[in-house]
Amino acid sequence: MSELSSKELTYLPGVGPKKAALLKSEIGAVSFEDMLYYFPYRYVDRSRFVKVREIASVLSFVQIKGRIVKSDLIGEGRSQRLSLQFFDGEDCIELIWFKGVKFAADKYKVGQEYVAFGKPTAFNGRLNIVHPEMETPNEAASKQQMGGLQGLYNTTEKMKSGFLTSRAIQKIMLNIFQAIGKYQMPETLPAYLIEKYNLMLLCDAISNIHFPKNEVALRSAQFRLKLEELFYIQLNILRSAKNRTKRFKGLVFSTIGYYFNTFYKDHIPFDLTDAQKRVIREIRADVASGKQMNRLLQGDVGSGKTLVALMVMLMALDNGFQACLMAPTEILATQHHASISEMLAPLGIRVELLTGSTKRSERGPLLASLANGEIQILVGTHALLEDAVVFSNLGMVIIDEQHRFGVAQRARLWDKNVQPPHVLVMTATPIPRTLAMTMYGDLDVSVIDQLPPGRKPIQTIHRYENNRAGLYDFLKKQIAEGRQAYIVYPLIQESEKSDYQNLESGFELVKEIFPEPQYRVCMVHGKMKPAEKDEQMQLFASGVANILVATTVIEVGVNVPNASVMVIESAERFGLSQLHQLRGRVGRGANQSFCVLLTSLKLSTESRQRMEIMTRTNDGFEISEADLKMRGPGDLDGTQQSGVAFNMKIANLSTDGQILQIARDMAQKVLDEDPDLTLEKNYVLNKHLASQNKGVVSWGVIS
Ligand code: ADP
Ligand code: MG
Repeated sequence: MSELSSKELTYLPGVGPKKAALLKSEIGAVSFEDMLYYFPYRYVDRSRFVKVREIASVLSFVQIKGRIVKSDLIGEGRSQRLSLQFFDGEDCIELIWFKGVKFAADKYKVGQEYVAFGKPTAFNGRLNIVHPEMETPNEAASKQQMGGLQGLYNTTEKMKSGFLTSRAIQKIMLNIFQAIGKYQMPETLPAYLIEKYNLMLLCDAISNIHFPKNEVALRSAQFRLKLEELFYIQLNILRSAKNRTKRFKGLVFSTIGYYFNTFYKDHIPFDLTDAQKRVIREIRADVASGKQMNRLLQGDVGSGKTLVALMVMLMALDNGFQACLMAPTEILATQHHASISEMLAPLGIRVELLTGSTKRSERGPLLASLANGEIQILVGTHALLEDAVVFSNLGMVIIDEQHRFGVAQRARLWDKNVQPPHVLVMTATPIPRTLAMTMYGDLDVSVIDQLPPGRKPIQTIHRYENNRAGLYDFLKKQIAEGRQAYIVYPLIQESEKSDYQNLESGFELVKEIFPEPQYRVCMVHGKMKPAEKDEQMQLFASGVANILVATTVIEVGVNVPNASVMVIESAERFGLSQLHQLRGRVGRGANQSFCVLLTSLKLSTESRQRMEIMTRTNDGFEISEADLKMRGPGDLDGTQQSGVAFNMKIANLSTDGQILQIARDMAQKVLDEDPDLTLEKNYVLNKHLASQNKGVVSWGVIS
């Protein structure tokens, strides 16, 4: 796009091929422009010096002015370290190097004065700083003149060992600015918007984001860059939403007929909640409107989304269309298939299941019946996406627990009919408002904000691992009352061997404590063959097994109402959303349910907070807001893919809600005035959008 994007970092003084390769592989920066858009993640005030005894928090960065009074090389060979005693005139703090020991020992000598900068840690009650940045008093003084605010850049381990520290990156930035002169940076927003919203120019913003003149300038720079980032996302979303409604006419479901009415009147064993009724009405209005529906259905675990999905599929059937339901796992697809078939049996509806493990011999006939329309509802996994799966007249696609599917996969369902089917995406992960606005700005959202009546809120308890004995007694009591229990082990990386060992030894332990024939314990995990998994799951679902030892494969959707206890081992290793999802596996029946979070005694502050939140509330929205605040949106369970798709560099969805609102209004106004961005004054927008969208999956047009 600009000259900056064609200038490669390799040619920058001080970079060279090795560092350039690291920058490319670690942070994806190839050109000057890429690098300039690698922003500091925080700033520290380098104009203030701290005394050792003033260090109150070990969490923040400090800079200390002092003199090296003692230097020791400790240990041998690879485990050798350098320890310096650094004296600030009153007290000493230890400075430590584990890497580059020889280099540091040669450079930093007793008697020399330095400004040491870093994050103190407490070890055995004494403070130290590992790998501090060291500057001579002169170097430090020049920083102060630059406004005192210094950017800190994220660096990976690999970068650090390649000498690409935060400080090295700062030098690279300086060199870039020297090489180009900031005025070659083309503006990415039209002049009239810059004026109207009183924004800093791009070149000034980029310069101030790396080297803030002062705090006010830094704020303006941040505001400008955040607003721009969010603005383009919104512009993209709003524009594709418009295109979509223009391009695709929706299938019209004009009647509510026999299937829906009969099922509703005669075959639901309970009353729908008001929230369920409202959502069904919203969907009904959509499918009759002539527009293609793209709706997100949010509802906490156990709120009855599946039933809504079922009724929505019946609407399709009543109008002569087929429907399909896609689930993220084989277990879940199988379970959906079983429960839907059972519920629809009295209506004589043909429901089939297609997964990766459907036998070859069954696949052929099944696909044939699908293509000629005999199969009315197809339930399955991503096997549904294959080209061989051809419908006769697909009208409604339901995607359960959408976060497990990539955007590109969803797009393929659109092609299963000449006129794209209606799409309902169901998710139990409550998405905080700001996130929903960004990720699903073009989706309509329905919320089931009510649980079926009679549910007793789950009691959540936090216990330390040394309390196991008490826990097992409790489980025995529950089992004696006829209940069942889950015991979940963390398996963060399916590939991690140690996790499997934990799971296996956990399973053996549980079997010892709950011996046959009095008890029956079964187990499922992701590495099992589907048939085996199924068999174990069946043992539990049918009530034969009292305890299911499992990994997070059961996190999503499994429904065994008689299970009343969820034990989560090493709960500190799970994120909040995941804990909430897991907890949602119980509390589905009429009995009081319990969730026991087992952790080790030593907990970080953050883990402790997570346990506290979990024991305090059952409210999924509150939990996901907290999760967003604690972890940042990039990490949020279920939103990783979207986070990557948006690739946000500076805006933060958990804290920039207000800027997001401004960005959205701004995008809306621009499009209201100039829907196709053809006006001369919007030329920049068009150009920038085009360059942004190059090579990116067009996620905006898909659900
Ligand atoms: P979700 O998919 O939202 O987690 P499900 O659809 O699996 O929830 O429903 C959980 C349980 O609640 C199921 O056993 C279902 O039969 C039951 N259920 C659904 N709607 C109602 C209702 N209105 N009243 C009572 N029970 C309901
Ligand atoms: Mg469900």
